[in-house]
Amino acid sequence: MTSGTQDREPFEAAPLDRSSSFYVAGHRGLVGSAIWRNLEAEGFTGLIGRTSSELDLKDRDAVFAFFAETKPRYVVLAAAKVGGILANSTYPVDFLSENLRIQVNVLDAAVEHSVERLLFLGSSCIYPRMAPQPIREESLLTGYLEPTNDAYAIAKIAGILQIQAIRRQYGLPWISAMPTNLYGPGDNFSLTGSHVLPALIRRYDDAAKSGAATVVNWGTGTPRREFLHVDDMAAACLHLLENYDGPSQVNVGTGSDVTIAEIADTIAGVVGFTGTTEWDISKPDGTPQKLLDVSKLAGEGWTSRIGLEAGLRSTVKWYREHADDLRK
Ligand code: GDP
Repeated sequence: MTSGTQDREPFEAAPLDRSSSFYVAGHRGLVGSAIWRNLEAEGFTGLIGRTSSELDLKDRDAVFAFFAETKPRYVVLAAAKVGGILANSTYPVDFLSENLRIQVNVLDAAVEHSVERLLFLGSSCIYPRMAPQPIREESLLTGYLEPTNDAYAIAKIAGILQIQAIRRQYGLPWISAMPTNLYGPGDNFSLTGSHVLPALIRRYDDAAKSGAATVVNWGTGTPRREFLHVDDMAAACLHLLENYDGPSQVNVGTGSDVTIAEIADTIAGVVGFTGTTEWDISKPDGTPQKLLDVSKLAGEGWTSRIGLEAGLRSTVKWYREHADDLRK
């Protein structure tokens, strides 16, 4: 184990070795499964994944035994308890406690085995509720969090700090990336537990099929959100692992946002719903705007490719093909 950033060889951008062992923690989730698909397509042959029933990442001894057995050279930490605005505000203890335990166990075990490159994934909700828009990486820890997801955000902030501390104390060139709202194949389409985009796909598609006249969404429809297709996110992750080495987390997004009412209209159009939309203002709006400044990532040579409408169309197609066997 090395003992500090000053002692290590300077980082050089280079392709990762395609035949080395590469652990994707959370490889069945929305992000992890997209990262896995992308790594396979890029020719990686040493991919390692464990379902939560095979390996409970909250079990510290099991995590250490897994690392001792598999000795991964590279790691992406995409395992987390995630959920939409209602799940986050109803079960804050679960989001705080489970995520802290998963992160601390995986990062400690990865330090013990001097994992060469590691990417920790967070979320744009780590930034203060009233951060200037678009949100720059420097806004971290400059103000109060949005209360509907503060517990999840605090866990993710602790993860970023742990990565920075590991860089300082052990000199390992590990990094963090903060994606904006993600969507795509493999998402959770539950009406109560999911994020807005899969919930709306399901609600409008059900309404289009049943011929319902009205759809009722949550909140006022005025909050602004940025949506990134998860295949773009997966490509950005590999790009960062091969090109970026710095203590600051890196924002990953498209650089543009829409209102919830606008995304609802677009989804209604894509699924062919012709009725009316109403808004249930007893449900929370959450933070008024969440748009990431992606200039740091652009400076590293990566920008998103999948447009929102094209991404929505392929996600709706995937949803229809998998509607019977989804997590609902
Ligand atoms: P957030 O980005 O952390 O606020 O999380 P969400 O993706 O859960 O919600 C984004 C916005 O969409 C909020 O303003 C919600 O009120 C709104 N929204 C409208 N309808 C729904 C829905 O059916 N499910 C969810 N999760 N959000 C909805």
